[in-house]
Amino acid sequence: MLASANQGGDSDVAVIRLDNPPVNGLSHQVRPTVMAGLEAALADAAVKAIVLTGAGKIFCGGADLRQFNTPAASATPSLQALVERIEASPKPVVAAIDGIAYGGGFELALACHYRLVSPQAKLALPEVKLGLLPGCGGTQRLPRLIGVDAALRIIVGGDPVAALDAVRLGMADVLIEGDFLAAAVAYARRVVVTGGAHPVAAQRPIALADRQMVFTAAREQASKQKRGFPAPLACISCVEAALDLPFEEGLKFEHQQFTALLNGSESKALRHLFFAEREAAKIVDLPSSQARRPITQVGVIGAGTMGAGITMCFANAGMPVILMEARREALERGLALIRKNYAATVAKGKLSQEALESRLSIISTTLDYQDLHDADLVIEAVFEDMVVKKEVFQQLDQVCKPGAIMASNTSRLDLNEIAAGTSRPQDVIGLHFFSPANVMRLLEVVRGAATAADVVAGAMQLAKTIGKIGVLVGVCEGFVGNRMLTPYAREAQFLLEEGASVQQVDRALYNFGMAMGPLAMADMAGLDIARAARLRLAPTRPAHLRYSQVADRICDMGRFGQKTGAGFYRYEAGSRTPIPDPEIEALIERCAQEAQIQRRSLSQEEIVERTIYALINEGARILEQGIAQRASDIDTVYVNGYGFPAYRGGPLFYADTVGLDKVYARICEYHRRHGEYWEPAPLLERLAMTGKNFHGV
Ligand code: NAD
Repeated sequence: MLASANQGGDSDVAVIRLDNPPVNGLSHQVRPTVMAGLEAALADAAVKAIVLTGAGKIFCGGADLRQFNTPAASATPSLQALVERIEASPKPVVAAIDGIAYGGGFELALACHYRLVSPQAKLALPEVKLGLLPGCGGTQRLPRLIGVDAALRIIVGGDPVAALDAVRLGMADVLIEGDFLAAAVAYARRVVVTGGAHPVAAQRPIALADRQMVFTAAREQASKQKRGFPAPLACISCVEAALDLPFEEGLKFEHQQFTALLNGSESKALRHLFFAEREAAKIVDLPSSQARRPITQVGVIGAGTMGAGITMCFANAGMPVILMEARREALERGLALIRKNYAATVAKGKLSQEALESRLSIISTTLDYQDLHDADLVIEAVFEDMVVKKEVFQQLDQVCKPGAIMASNTSRLDLNEIAAGTSRPQDVIGLHFFSPANVMRLLEVVRGAATAADVVAGAMQLAKTIGKIGVLVGVCEGFVGNRMLTPYAREAQFLLEEGASVQQVDRALYNFGMAMGPLAMADMAGLDIARAARLRLAPTRPAHLRYSQVADRICDMGRFGQKTGAGFYRYEAGSRTPIPDPEIEALIERCAQEAQIQRRSLSQEEIVERTIYALINEGARILEQGIAQRASDIDTVYVNGYGFPAYRGGPLFYADTVGLDKVYARICEYHRRHGEYWEPAPLLERLAMTGKNFHGV
């Protein structure tokens, strides 16, 4: 249906409806109709009050994201003009909020004189999540309405507030049950009868006693929790302006801050990721009507780190799951890990004891493959060893019912080889969870050469069911994420040999925005895991290529990272804080000497370029080879699975913002200096030469 705002209701109360499915967004088509409805109501002497509401079970989802940075966003009347017209209305305007009132939708409601909510209502100013702030007076009106503390929490956090809490806080006046619209019209009539001046949020006084403490604490928290993100800090400054400046001046300040964020790279990156996540769910070569293999009963094999976490994912989604192990002790250990994780969530107050019990009650265990017979899906999470995995799949082939999906959580192994060892390769797929599997949202869905379409569609749907972001990838060494990690980790070690310290490499990438540096990350993941992959690939590595011995030599010392209390760093007992270790710096120097590398001082810029551009170059190859469906999928993988800063939008989006011509030129320079590893990816070269970028591909 096209946007419309309908006038209705009884003659003394005009009802204006926002009507623009699916969320009654405030597009350039909706705003004029709302304004026309308002003008008509104001001009009609018979109308004494106005009710603003939304069609369906939604008030308004806010501005239309796709229109940001386009002329439609500023087409008249602007949201600002609407807000001003409502606030200045001599006739009382009542916002009747059923369902969500988000962003610009809630700002519209804030300009109304009264706000009524239904029990389903949810109010939010979520702009910060897209690197923005409420730009239509939200930061100025909300603190006047509910106080600075609560406003900071809502604006800087961006999370929705449920109806009852909204009333308690003062974001809404009344909660109404029953016939909502009729009650809203009756309420509007009552306020007409009561008479007097109608409350205007902009005119309410605002004060704060301990301002220094409140704003310092808010800034500290935002800098810690959202390191490198400008929007939360800008939100805080706007709320501070509400306190310091007259209302009109505050609005101007808010507008300046909003415009700066809108045109800045953070918001563009976050908006890119917002759409990227939705796009990732689409399978390019399958129709949306594609049948899906149904999955209700799940089996998991291996109760180690991953198996335990994967089991929790299904229990959390209310899906019965049977956990199978080879040995009783391992099964007990896995179950104990699951219990410990749940108990920690209960202790934090994020899960009730009742919910814990109900989750545990749908987890069953076995040591017998036969018990997996009824499962619609079995996920293997045993040791990363082709021989072991093949044995497991042969067993599954024997016991699984016809049509059951047989999945592997392998990080890097050849899924096609695993599938070929079964009599039903069409039923085999990769489901690559990330550690901790019950927390990390990313799921690489690995499509084998023979995987059936309904298995692929079923697995992508399953990702949604268990609250993961499924990204469809093809088979190659390491799929998308781990394949890109290889050149990234390689360069990190080369940089050590060339003169950087462990801390310097990690610090440079941490400052770039990575959740942690590559060497601290390697310590966390386990150096033995990476070494096993290097050993496996050794026969395919050309002998003339440079190879850093550093990580292997650290492993030779029995240092496998955090789990052994030492790796690239050392760790105090029970602590995960990396402590620089002179012993490792000496080892690096020895390795450099043996490899006849002249050590030099390296800049932060070179460290970042060498590692991040290596990621980008590999990403370009992955895209060109069709291992990822689209550039934005690679960004989604890297931001959600590898700690790439969301405010940079992912490696390929970041490359686009730097300019592919510049990235290409630097890669050519590194190719000249460091040889073969740096050969530019053909796709990157073509795009750079033709002035295009990844996200146009
Ligand atoms: P792990 O060593 O913690 O657990 C493996 C478990 O499998 C052990 O409990 C073992 O007893 C059990 N097992 C071994 N052979 C078995 C068999 N034949 N039948 C039943 N159980 C068997 O390993 P993990 O870290 O959980 O990794 C498991 C898989 O997940 C590997 O393929 C790994 O590459 C992959 N993976 C690991 C991570 C990670 O960060 N740890 C991340 C993604 C994927």
